Amino acid sequence: MDEKQKQDLKVKIQEQIKILKKDIASLEEATRPISPDNAIGRISRMEAISAKSVNEKALANAKARMNGLLRALDNIGDPDFGYCAICDEEIPIGRIMLVPESDVCVKCAQKA
Ligand SMILES: [Zn+2]
Repeated sequence: MDEKQKQDLKVKIQEQIKILKKDIASLEEATRPISPDNAIGRISRMEAISAKSVNEKALANAKARMNGLLRALDNIGDPDFGYCAICDEEIPIGRIMLVPESDVCVKCAQKA
């Protein structure tokens, strides 16, 4: 990975972090405790609870991704950035651009 690619990647990661922050904020809003409000019927309350659990999963994923992106941003200057953490092969630039939060190559990711 050359300096230009690293610079492009940095910008890309920062953009993704910005988007993710908004996603996390709205998911946090959506996963607030559901009050036993009489205004919504029993079935819609159940729907609300099930939607909440979907949103909770999405929130956990978004937070994990956020951590990965922040870590990638931190590590981007390291000499071994862009190399698989497991097999030490160089990770193709296309994959890094697509999933910068991953520090393993496709082969190792599939094995894990
Ligand atoms: Zn690997």
